Order: sequence, then C-alpha cells, then structure tokens
Amino acid sequence: MVPSATPYGTVPDGAIAVTDGRVVFVGPRGELPSEVASHPARVIAGDGGWVTPGLIDCHTHLVFGGNRAEEFEARLGGASYEEIAWAGGGILSTVAATRAASEDELRASAGARIATLRAHGVTTVEIKSGYGLELETEIQMLRVARAAGDDQDVTTVTTLLGAHALPPEAAGDRDVYLDLVCEEMIPAAVGVADAVDAFCEGIAFTPEECRRVLQTGAGHGLYGRLHADQLSDIGGAAVAAACGARSADHLEYTSEAGVRAMAQSGTVPVLLPGAFLYLNEERRPPVAAMREAGLDIAVATDLNPGSSPIASPLIALNLACLLFGLTPEESLAGMTRVAARVLDMEGSRGTLTEGAHADLALWDIEHPAELSYWMGANPCRTVIRGGRAG
Ligand SMILES: [Zn+2]
Repeated sequence: MVPSATPYGTVPDGAIAVTDGRVVFVGPRGELPSEVASHPARVIAGDGGWVTPGLIDCHTHLVFGGNRAEEFEARLGGASYEEIAWAGGGILSTVAATRAASEDELRASAGARIATLRAHGVTTVEIKSGYGLELETEIQMLRVARAAGDDQDVTTVTTLLGAHALPPEAAGDRDVYLDLVCEEMIPAAVGVADAVDAFCEGIAFTPEECRRVLQTGAGHGLYGRLHADQLSDIGGAAVAAACGARSADHLEYTSEAGVRAMAQSGTVPVLLPGAFLYLNEERRPPVAAMREAGLDIAVATDLNPGSSPIASPLIALNLACLLFGLTPEESLAGMTRVAARVLDMEGSRGTLTEGAHADLALWDIEHPAELSYWMGANPCRTVIRGGRAG
C-alpha cells in the first residue's frame, strides 16, 4: 500500500489547547494563539511522548456473569464444541451466569473490564447486551453498561443484542422469540440503548429475521449494527447495507458483492481479529476488496467471555496487522476516527480537530507504529478526558 502524504496526520512538536472540555486549537506549538499560550489554567507537558485521540473500542460484550476459562481448558484438552454444549457450556452457560448475577455484581465486573481498557488508552466503549435473552436481563445489561462506564469515567454507547441466540426456553419456537425481541425488548430499550444489533448466521438468525430486527430498531430511533458473515456467507453484509446499518462486523466470509453493497450504503466494516484467533478460523476478511471499494475499516476487541477474551485494545491493533494485514496506520485509524463513525460520533470523538471532545491518550512511544507493534506492553502514560488528566 502506498503510504499517505501525511502519515498518521502527525504534527511534530505540537500543542493542543482545550477549553470547556473541547479542543480549541491543535497544531504546531509555535502557532498557539497568544491569548491561549499566555494564560493557560493548566499545562500538561508531553515530555517527548505522543498524543492520539482516546481510543474507541466500538464492539464489545463486556457485561457478563462468570467466564469460560474452564471451557477454554476443556477445548484445549480435546473436547469438541458439541460436547461442551451438551455439558452446559458455550454461550448458554454465560446466559445462565448473567441471569444469576445481581446488578451490583455485573456492574463491578464490567467496571473492572472497562478500567483495564481505559488503562490502555480507551475513552469510549460500545457495549452490547445479549446474555440475558429475556426482557428484564437484556434491559438490565444495558443499564449496567451505562452505569459501569460512568463509574470509570469512560463514554459508553449501548447496543441491544436480543437477537444474539435463541434462549433455551424458546428452542423450537423462533417466531415467538423474535416477537419478544421486536415487540417488547426494542421498545423497552429506547432510552437505555443507542443501537440495535443481531447475529446473522446459520447457527443464529436468518437474514430475514435480522432484517426485521434492524427495521424495527430503526423505527424506534435505534441505528443498526450486524454480526455478519463470521462463519459463513449468508449475505449478512448485504443485509446490513440494505437496512442502512452503520456497521457490519466480523466479515470473514463476505463476498465481493457484500463489499460493494457496504460501499454504496456507507456501512462501515468492523474487523474483530480476536475472535478469528480464538476460534482458529482460517478464512480472512476481504481487506484488499474493502480498500479497493474505498471502505475505511474499524477494528475492535470484541471483548467477550467465549470467542474473544481480549481486554487490550493494543492487542486487537496488533492482531489486525498480523492476522489481517492492516497497516499500523489503518489499524490506529480503525480504533479512532473510523470507530467514531460506527458509533455516530464522527468528528466529535476519535479525532484531534477543533471542536472535538478533548478525549486524549498520551503515550510513551517514539513512533505511532509502536501501538500495533508491542504485544503485552502498555505504553499509555495517561488518558485525558474532557481536558482532565488522570
Ligand atoms: Zn460480537
């Protein structure tokens, strides 16, 4: 790939001025307006570090009860996915643990996960429901997500994912469950959710079912997202595009037609290399076709207890480069500027421009490619939220 003319949008020896939580100047230090430079209320020295927009993790499932470490161990020991499911494992074990947990327990464990993301430079996180699969627990998860984000001083965006899996009590009666999602969960989520999502896959919901969920969500003012083409190509990306969804996520099996449909509708591809890694997938998303179609690509952790227990945004950036061939610059854009577009925050977060929220991350690095290069190191010195450090 040809490097862009101004890689990373770098400003050497730069300065950022903030007033009332918003960026009012960004540029070379020598060009700071004199009225700002002469009477700053507070100065935070960069000391040779790099400043980026605070990272935006635009796809997580970080509110859940229990975890699946024992299942991970059993799979490494040779147990098949089916054997684990028969023994009560898999997603339904997380549903059972989430239903059994109290609201305070969920809030504390989600808060700890958000704190870990924040320590690695994240200032905005999207969190989905989808482990309740009944009205009360789904709404509780959305409430918990917002409260846990407030507790940790991180901006949260919440997404109703009632159409994640069929709950055990609905097995065999898909239509009754879809009615519950569309007629009860979506109306009840207005006010606690920003978006609606569904899992479009042979083992989950059909394209027609997902279309119904996204269209119902849109009718209630919730923009659409879609888990699409992760394990097979059933046309998920095209469904997301046809419904005007802001993103289609995973996309390992997306066809060229799906890529074209996304480009036409402005649907953003979100790549989740953690799930690809943990599921031992071999088929990679069509990154070259996405670039050719002019699509910008977002990257996220997919933090969840089953297929992507990854609590580091930097590891997701690293895996996007190593496994999917993104450049470090594309990868960083995917967790800042492009992720903001997915969450309907384009221009106000994920970018260092005048008028944007002053959500920043300060890094002890010598080159921004280091954010994708190290695995396990954390060069984040501090995050700044609305101009406040700490
Ligand atoms: Zn997901």
